[in-house]
Amino acid sequence: MADIYDTLVIGGGIIGAAAGLELTAAGYRTLLVERNDYGSGTSSKTSRLQHCGLGYLSAASGSIAAFLSRPRNAIECFSLMRRSMQGRAEFVHAAPERVKPVTFIVPLTKENAIPRWKAWLAFRLMAASDGGRVPLDLRLLSQREARAHPALQGMAGLDEIGGAMTFTEYQYQWPERVVVDAVMSARSIGMEALNHTKVTALTQEGGLWKATLADDLGSREVTSRAVVNCAGVWVDEMTALAGKPKLRRNTGEKGTNIVLRLPKALAGMGFETVTSSGSPFYLIPWGDLHYVGPWDSKSAGTPDGFCATEAEIYAILDQLGRLFPGLDLSRSDVLYSWAGVRPRSLAADGENTSPSVREHDLTEAGLPNFFTFTGGLLMTHRDAGRRLARAVGRRLPPSKPATSSTYSAPATQILSEVNQASIAYAVQREQAQNLSDILRRRLSVGWDSDLGLSKAHTAAQLAAPHLGWSSAETAAQLAAFIDETRREFGLNSEQNPALQA
Ligand SMILES: Cc1cc2nc3c(=O)[nH]c(=O)nc-3n(C[C@H](O)[C@H](O)[C@H](O)COP(=O)(O)OP(=O)(O)OC[C@H]3O[C@@H](n4cnc5c(N)ncnc54)[C@H](O)[C@@H]3O)c2cc1C
Repeated sequence: MADIYDTLVIGGGIIGAAAGLELTAAGYRTLLVERNDYGSGTSSKTSRLQHCGLGYLSAASGSIAAFLSRPRNAIECFSLMRRSMQGRAEFVHAAPERVKPVTFIVPLTKENAIPRWKAWLAFRLMAASDGGRVPLDLRLLSQREARAHPALQGMAGLDEIGGAMTFTEYQYQWPERVVVDAVMSARSIGMEALNHTKVTALTQEGGLWKATLADDLGSREVTSRAVVNCAGVWVDEMTALAGKPKLRRNTGEKGTNIVLRLPKALAGMGFETVTSSGSPFYLIPWGDLHYVGPWDSKSAGTPDGFCATEAEIYAILDQLGRLFPGLDLSRSDVLYSWAGVRPRSLAADGENTSPSVREHDLTEAGLPNFFTFTGGLLMTHRDAGRRLARAVGRRLPPSKPATSSTYSAPATQILSEVNQASIAYAVQREQAQNLSDILRRRLSVGWDSDLGLSKAHTAAQLAAPHLGWSSAETAAQLAAFIDETRREFGLNSEQNPALQA
């Protein structure tokens, strides 16, 4: 370990991973610390979309004059849309194996009706934002075409829709692995990274930051010139640790998705509309299943223990029932669910949520060389990493020359199999420490339709010698993985024999 780091990155979600990579490449001697595993926080509980940013223009779907009459708001919406399109183009070109194009259909109903010319204009603006690098494939369907579209059959109010539009969105196949890829890429050029290690104290001493790190083996102190706080929905806890409990920048918003099997006419197709209260609502293909949501609700105060409540699951089923009354879905059709608490920027009024995605240099607020990121999203994570590296650069020069990573992720095939080689790679090369690390964030089998349960026993046996597990410890690790799967995903036990044992 270094005597003094240039930057201590707190949090190994998508934003911390991107920041760690950018800072290390810029020449900052960096330590990243994650209290669980890389990518196991909110970054693993999303709707997995690399959105094109259309939603940011929805404020202009009514009167354009009214939209433009609040110029600061309008500029913010355009800038967020532009960053989304640019993030989409950058990521689709850089990591095509981690994303998948999905055709989405949006019926133009009473709730989200926009005139065809406005839809056309919005897509022209979006295409111009990334120079047309990744096509949006907009198709505007007439009323007749929309009513005949197979994916819309059975939809409530089909006779009243004014038309529909289809376009291409990209879906992250596996956001957790995108986080791991970024951390491993940064390690390949010298970043140090510790998972399962928590920052428990932060103090200032002689112009430097001292952080106490705790893991299963005990605690120790590290020293750093700057702190880059990427703790997601927990960022304000970090500023509180650093001695400023009143310095709030974040607010949480819980979102839930459920997984079920929808009729064949929707196979492979995304569907986008709004809930009865006007929030975005998606049906997103997931293999031969769909996940549906998000259902947004107030965060219960503590962002820990992400999981869907029965009320949230029923609320999504209710929306689906309103949308497609003939589907006749019940609670037992829900195969599993997940939920997370979005980190959102706190608005200037200190109460409401702002859509903005931004870095905060807290030097003037009494925390010198302390940077916090709020509102971070998967879809613009590379931009977030660059913004943080630039913010640090305005205060501190790097101690080493800039470099760039030539890391390439292991082949997709090795990541989709549980065998001697894949487990050894996950543990020895990629810091996996338990079955969840191995099955969900190093290998993709944890996202098979049974969430990896059928392969967990074999994985535990293969991992045991690498992790020094006795047979009792191996059994305990397996039980912990099954318990986590049951708790976090509410997997339907009737359909999963491994959960009945
Ligand atoms: C339901 C839902 C749907 C979403 N859909 C999308 C989508 O489709 N597209 C999109 O772009 N975004 C989406 N998002 C938003 C996106 O997931 C998040 O905004 C993003 O993942 C946040 O990343 P992060 O790195 O800031 O946070 P996290 O991934 O939560 O990372 C923060 C990390 O900090 C760690 N940490 C906290 N305290 C400490 C400590 N004391 N010491 C060490 N580590 C600590 C945590 O363990 C955590 O891993 C969605 C979010 C939700 C909830």
